[in-house]
Amino acid sequence: MGGLLGRAALPGLLSGPRVPGPRLLVRPSSGGSSWTRERTLVAVKPDGVQRRLVGDVIQRFERRGFKLVGMKMLQAPERVLAEHYHDLQRKPFYPALISYMTSGPVVAMVWEGPNVVGSSRAMIGHTDSAEAAPGTIRGDFSIHISRNIIHASDSVEGAQREIQLWFQSSELVDWADEVHQSGIYPP
Ligand code: UDP
Ligand code: MG
Repeated sequence: MGGLLGRAALPGLLSGPRVPGPRLLVRPSSGGSSWTRERTLVAVKPDGVQRRLVGDVIQRFERRGFKLVGMKMLQAPERVLAEHYHDLQRKPFYPALISYMTSGPVVAMVWEGPNVVGSSRAMIGHTDSAEAAPGTIRGDFSIHISRNIIHASDSVEGAQREIQLWFQSSELVDWADEVHQSGIYPP
């Protein structure tokens, strides 16, 4: 018997200690293998917000099975963008990039799950929309590199840096999948 009665037999499952941080070894309650917790920064850029694509982006990440642990809409401060794109500051397109990124609000999110950094990059597609495969976010919604809808961190180390840049630790929510563990809904 699973379900609600089974919950009582799983002490600590719902109230176990929570260790904040970008990577953490997660041991499943039953079966399966443990995995290193990974998080990434995803941001719907101003063109994505203006074209009403925020819901579609969220739906793709949820449908894939990733877990949303932080989200906010903001007008990106130039200080944050300068740090975020610090390695591109000498590129000829940098002024246009900052102008684009400040042309309206962005929706910044932190998603969690196994290999979420690599999977997110695959889901958003090639930087140059003209090269992005159909089925990817950029390949489905964008035709030009200068208006490519979405950002996702390109490495685990970059993700840790970007999450700290865009979010306070108090803005990240470490929640448990109680509704699935209850057995009332299928996983
Ligand atoms: N970008 C641009 N022109 C270029 C290259 C990049 O406007 O020739 C912009 C584009 O918005 C891209 C961002 O700069 O998403 C960051 O570039 P990066 O190479 O890091 O690509 P990404 O990681 O976003 O795929
Ligand atoms: Mg990049």
